[in-house]
Amino acid sequence: MPATKEAATHAFWLAGRQATGDQTFEVTSPWDGRPVGTVSVPTAAQVEEAVAAAVAVADEFAATPAHVRAAALDHVCSRITERAEEIAELISAENGKPMKWARGEVGRCISVFRLAAEEARRFNGGVAQRLDTDAGGTGRLALTRRFPRGPVLGIAPFNFPLNLCAHKVAPALAVGTPILLKPAPATPLSGLLLGELLAETDLPAGSWSVLPVPNDRMPDLVQDERLPVVSFTGSAPVGWSILDSAPRKRVTLELGGNGAAVVLADYATDADIDWAAQRIATFSNYQGGQSCISVQRVIADTSVYDRLVPKIVEAVERLRTGDPSDPATDVGPLVSEDAAKRVESWVAEAVAAGAKVLTGGTRERASYAPTVLENVPSDSKIGCDEVFGPVMSVTRVEGEEAAFAAANDSPYGLQAGVFTHDVQAAFRAHRALETGGVIIGDVPSYRADQMPYGGAKQSGVGREGVQFAMEDYTYERVMVLTGL
Ligand code: NAD
Repeated sequence: MPATKEAATHAFWLAGRQATGDQTFEVTSPWDGRPVGTVSVPTAAQVEEAVAAAVAVADEFAATPAHVRAAALDHVCSRITERAEEIAELISAENGKPMKWARGEVGRCISVFRLAAEEARRFNGGVAQRLDTDAGGTGRLALTRRFPRGPVLGIAPFNFPLNLCAHKVAPALAVGTPILLKPAPATPLSGLLLGELLAETDLPAGSWSVLPVPNDRMPDLVQDERLPVVSFTGSAPVGWSILDSAPRKRVTLELGGNGAAVVLADYATDADIDWAAQRIATFSNYQGGQSCISVQRVIADTSVYDRLVPKIVEAVERLRTGDPSDPATDVGPLVSEDAAKRVESWVAEAVAAGAKVLTGGTRERASYAPTVLENVPSDSKIGCDEVFGPVMSVTRVEGEEAAFAAANDSPYGLQAGVFTHDVQAAFRAHRALETGGVIIGDVPSYRADQMPYGGAKQSGVGREGVQFAMEDYTYERVMVLTGL
């Protein structure tokens, strides 16, 4: 990868053009600490300029024809496709994500922009509705259209530094509402690169900005009444504090989870056990376990437990850990050494309370070894909170009801995976599990960008997925025609 280009100072994007502020910060590789880039930070006056530009252009942007917005989204989609490998290298460098997963993230981002372009062409109001079913409605007809609520503040976390920015930006541009994007401080370069591609389009100046604003200046933006929509993806404490501080805004919170993979008694052939073990091992550890829907808790029926768990351990031990730029690496470092030390301390707490390490349990700098724990007390941090690291607990249960109760024994509720072939059991799982999504026949970690995605309980409010975010950023306005 071209080191000189990456270590360069990156301007931010203010109302569609490049700008620099009066401070900078460094982005370093979590793997070896090498500098990946220097980022310029906007001043308070520049942030104000971006907000004012977004407000000023809102009406003009909302009136932009759908084909113009769709063409801009198509352009970004093509350019990401053309530059896919270089973008994957940037994601891997700033985030520490192995190249195979970084390439997957770029592929997801391409599909987000493709979907947004398609949805921009389709996005419509309601058809005419007769109102003359009562005398007062005689001669009246209603129709609806959706209009943007106003400029969106999009706040993204570090773990999918490109695609989670795309989840905010693409739906906003699809409906013609301005967006101010705030990427994560650890991984701002992918969001800034997205700005580079947006700058090649003829979207109106002011309709988008990418602003690496420091955390301590964020509360002002969150509370700014000129930004009526906040779309936040990140940790639960920060997310809920945003909702508390801006109760009258449209706030979408995509927060954490401690995803359960449930293996029911009927999932019992050798092929079933091999598939479940391999999927669980892979998706507990992809991105170093730093995914909101990675497998953290495995809940297996007692009739399959003794065959499943050794297979999981074997599959985990087969994962290749190491340098994220090596195409063979499955598991890279965590985002920082502090993050790995936190995971280490949580495992130590669980072990002190009686948990047994079946494999892993070691740390080297920012890397934590893929780890399987048994007998984890449900009140330990690993038992009930979000590890956000390559650690899973395995738990034996007897029967389906006990399995679903164990899966629900969590303050979070993002997605759950249920390994079963039984259609009735699948429907019972769908009814019983208190999560935003239930994935049958696989781990909880499956997500496609045309499906509604979001949490129950402390995992958040609202739904993403391109079309669902487009609905969130707009509201329905009815027009009643009289005298017809
Ligand atoms: P984080 O909450 O620390 O930061 C997220 C973003 O919020 C960053 O851009 C950060 O700079 C910003 N921020 C921090 N303090 C703020 C404040 N007071 N006001 C406004 N913005 C503020 O999260 P993180 O460590 O970057 O990401 C990991 C978390 O994100 C995990 O909990 C993970 O589960 C969650 N996540 C959820 C989803 C989902 O779709 N549900 C997807 C990915 C990640």
